[in-house]
Parts: sequence; C-alpha cells; structure tokens
Amino acid sequence: MTPSRTVVVANAMEGPERRSGARSALTGCPWHDVKSMLRDVGLRPTRQRMALGWILFGKGDRHITAEMLYEEATKAKVPVSLATVYNTLHQFTDVGLLRQVAVDGSKTYFDTNVSQHHHFFVEGENDLLDIPNTDVVVGKTPIPPDGYEVARIDVVVRLRRKSRT
Ligand SMILES: [Zn+2]
Repeated sequence: MTPSRTVVVANAMEGPERRSGARSALTGCPWHDVKSMLRDVGLRPTRQRMALGWILFGKGDRHITAEMLYEEATKAKVPVSLATVYNTLHQFTDVGLLRQVAVDGSKTYFDTNVSQHHHFFVEGENDLLDIPNTDVVVGKTPIPPDGYEVARIDVVVRLRRKSRT
C-alpha cells in the first residue's frame, strides 16, 4: 500500500475537485484514506476512529465542535458517546490531524485544515471563517520568557454585523 502523508490527504480533500488531481494518487476510496491516515500517525484504526475520521475528513476543510460532530455521528447512525467524540478529537489533535481553535472559554473548534492560517469568528452566528496566513501581519511578537519559544500565533478576528441606521 502506498503510504500517504497527512499533508497530501488534506490537500486532496480541499474543494469540490477533490475526486480528481491529488486524490487519484491515493486509493480513491475515502474509507481507505482515513485508514492510512490513522496508520500514518500511529493511531489504531478502530471502528469509532474510522467512522469519526470519515465524517470529519470526507467533506473537505471544515471547522467543527465536539457537539456538532456528535450530532452528525448520531445522524449517521454511528453508535458513539459524546465523551468518545471528545477523546477522539483530542487524540486526532495530538497527532496533528486536527488543529484546535479556541474562540472563547466555552467554544472550541477543531479545524481539519492544519496549515498555518487565521480565523474570523462571527459573533452571534458561531461561525468560523478562514483568513489566509498571508493576510495577517503580526507587527511585534512579544519576547517569550526564558526557556520558551513561540510555537504558533493564532489570530481570531471577531466580526459582528453592521447595524443599520
Ligand atoms: Zn480554519
């Protein structure tokens, strides 16, 4: 079997043309893609991980909360508890398949696009939109304390609808 790097899988799943191009280099079957994706990062492809991975990664780049994924899994008749959904999302994050985007204390989104980029958060609509990395210039990076280095800078720009006067 051809090993597929995570990056390749993520690229292959972008946009409506994901059935052509890069995807053809893979097995052509999303289910197999999820399996090799999990194997590549050293996670055993259990039925629950496979099912959740398939829901997560089969539809292109997206931002999803644990509750949203739980709801989709339930609708797809995947027998899974909310706790398992949480655990799986965190396991996927730990191995780099997902990126966590904390919007505020109560809401954590998981992003299937793990490349460096930033986000708009639409207040009141609970919607996250991508901002390309090149569109944000961070002027002055604070100097980290001794013994630390900056791992990543995440910018969340909060939006609200303009009020009509
Ligand atoms: Zn994103």
